[in-house]
Amino acid sequence: MTTEEVIARFKAKGALLEGHFVLSSGLHSTNYLQCALVLQYPQEAEGFGRAIASHFKDDKIRLVASPAIGGIVIGHEVARALGARFIWTERENGKMTLRRGFSVIPGEKTLVVEDVITTGGSTLETIKSLQVAGADVIAAASIIDRSMGEADVGVRRIALATLEVPSVDPSVCDSCERGEPAIKPGSGTRQ
Ligand SMILES: [Zn+2]
Repeated sequence: MTTEEVIARFKAKGALLEGHFVLSSGLHSTNYLQCALVLQYPQEAEGFGRAIASHFKDDKIRLVASPAIGGIVIGHEVARALGARFIWTERENGKMTLRRGFSVIPGEKTLVVEDVITTGGSTLETIKSLQVAGADVIAAASIIDRSMGEADVGVRRIALATLEVPSVDPSVCDSCERGEPAIKPGSGTRQ
């Protein structure tokens, strides 16, 4: 699956919008990306899961793990495509941990999957918590890479699409300069 195909699927489901947006950071952007809006369609999630899995056919992955909440849907689909087990990590007192009785078999070959990698921070935290539990984390993957390939998580990493979502301070925003109203997405109402 190419970057263009991924972007087309996101756009078709309204998960990648173009316009003038206020991001949760307060910065303004001409793009808004929300993976959950494409992953709400199980057939799309399945397609992305298969595409990610195709990169790891020869790696004998036994376990796929994802950081909650964003990674759960896509991680589950990757695990299904690889015939692997699937678990997730979540924060407890700010620290990424395995809860719910999830455990790792020492040396278990593990793939960490997220929906979007921006800095690689949550993937890295997930990898570390799995390594502490004894997993052999051999790679990481995401649908979207917003780091332009820069995020280093210490293991081999792939993404289906590399996508720059530039954001700027409102004081230097071209769209604001032109007087275009900014939309705050994700309010739960349809545009
Ligand atoms: Zn603006």
